[in-house]
Amino acid sequence: MANITDASQNKVRTAEEVNFEVARAMANIVQSTLGPLGRDKMMVDSSGRTVITNDGATILRETNFTHPTASLIVGVARTQESESYDGTTSAIILTGELVQQAEGLIQRGVHTTLIERGYNIALKEALKHLDKLAVEISNDKQLVQVAEVAMTGKQAEAYKDTLGPLCVQAAKSTRPSNVNILVRPGASVEDSLATTGLMLDKQMMNHGMPKVLKEGHIALFDCDLTLPPHTAGVNVNFTDGEAADLYAQKRKQDILTIGQYIIDKGANVVFSMKEIDPVLSEFFARNGVIAFRRTNNSLLEKVAETTGAMIVSSLGDLEKEDLGKSGMVEEVSNPAWDKPIMKFSDVSNPVGYSILITGPTEHVASEVARALDDAIGVTWLAHNQKEIVNGGGSTHVNMAMHLKQFANSVGGLEQLAVEAFANALEVIPATLAQNSGLQPLPSIIALRAAIASGTTHASLDVFNGGVCMDDLAVVEPKKVVSVALESATTAASQILRIDNIIQAKEAEFME
Ligand code: ADP
Ligand code: MG
Repeated sequence: MANITDASQNKVRTAEEVNFEVARAMANIVQSTLGPLGRDKMMVDSSGRTVITNDGATILRETNFTHPTASLIVGVARTQESESYDGTTSAIILTGELVQQAEGLIQRGVHTTLIERGYNIALKEALKHLDKLAVEISNDKQLVQVAEVAMTGKQAEAYKDTLGPLCVQAAKSTRPSNVNILVRPGASVEDSLATTGLMLDKQMMNHGMPKVLKEGHIALFDCDLTLPPHTAGVNVNFTDGEAADLYAQKRKQDILTIGQYIIDKGANVVFSMKEIDPVLSEFFARNGVIAFRRTNNSLLEKVAETTGAMIVSSLGDLEKEDLGKSGMVEEVSNPAWDKPIMKFSDVSNPVGYSILITGPTEHVASEVARALDDAIGVTWLAHNQKEIVNGGGSTHVNMAMHLKQFANSVGGLEQLAVEAFANALEVIPATLAQNSGLQPLPSIIALRAAIASGTTHASLDVFNGGVCMDDLAVVEPKKVVSVALESATTAASQILRIDNIIQAKEAEFME
């Protein structure tokens, strides 16, 4: 990468060439990870920290790029990730190919403005055709399939029988941002748990507190549950031991009064954002109350939202109506885990969804959790937009074939750009074939033939070679494909445009 990270290293090349090379080189980096048989990348930083990943966005995020053009392409991956949760590798490969195709046209004397215009015409037409190729989701099995395809090539794929249905339940329950994923090393991935209530990585203060509570009444405080400390500089002197004992007893009594007050209001689960006095915690344990101290603000708000509790700022403010409800509060533990978790089910406002991912090691559990997070997003997208398309190169070859015909109706040199766009789309099946040990060109030709003879949904059979004639053998949400087309076209156009500006400045500088 050294020769493309700094344009000034080679003064003979123009900035234009360097820009194109950056786009192509970045596509090359992620290319080998595409598809079910794609390989992983091991990213190592200067301190030896390693990340092993198959995800295009992660690879580009972790790579140390210095060339400004690289940030445009990293932006493509970011847009793709935030808008459609998947398809980052495809989006980057497509950007690189669109740039490469443009380069060919520039060499033939086509101006970048015409290429950009032609690319935009092609994009619009490709999206129109994509709408026609899309199929409406008709059952949960298809959603499970979407989740499984999203986990393709990642460690999580090995556990898709457990994780696929989990993704569907989560996606049907809430938005991806409301899904809370906890990780525990120890136990196998198949032992992972999920609930529409809340699971919190939080331990009760005292071992004597109940492990299970039916009918939890939850009080939330964002203040200390302790006695106010003496003002600085105040000394308390005792003249005899009895007075000291009396004073200590009085303070203890005051703390117990706080506890009794909370219990009298009906609470049996107490969260404090700050401290809870150990004497009070002991009192709670003896009276069947579960207490948690030092709960951070976001957790406190999550508990408030899910259980319908009000967060109160002083003890005296607590009223019965402020208490939240959970039909079942339980501590879930496993001998293989280092610490238990708290589970709140049957809550009054199940807005979220919690998943506990377990795995043999911290690394596996975290990697699975990351993949699951993406897969839930993709499944949610499919569930909400209700539209899926055939994967495995099918959609891309269909769009390419359509664009090649459509190009004839486009006048001017833009026609060449529309054809170039069509050729660029075929980089997806070509890469899928290559990564699966198949010959790219014969694979694409076979796929084109199958589609031309009427099997529109035909896709690449990457495991056995040849063409798979089953409909919806591999599915992905339509939006994963459309966002990739849009962001790749935008980035390629930007690279073509920026290139002109850089050329002008360099010419001035060299005079
Ligand atoms: P991305 O970051 O672009 O999602 P992936 O490595 O997840 O990259 O690969 C996605 C591509 O692999 C899509 O084009 C999808 O259609 C294809 N794909 C996934 N599973 C299969 C399969 N079993 N057979 C053929 N193609 C597949
Ligand atoms: Mg993917």
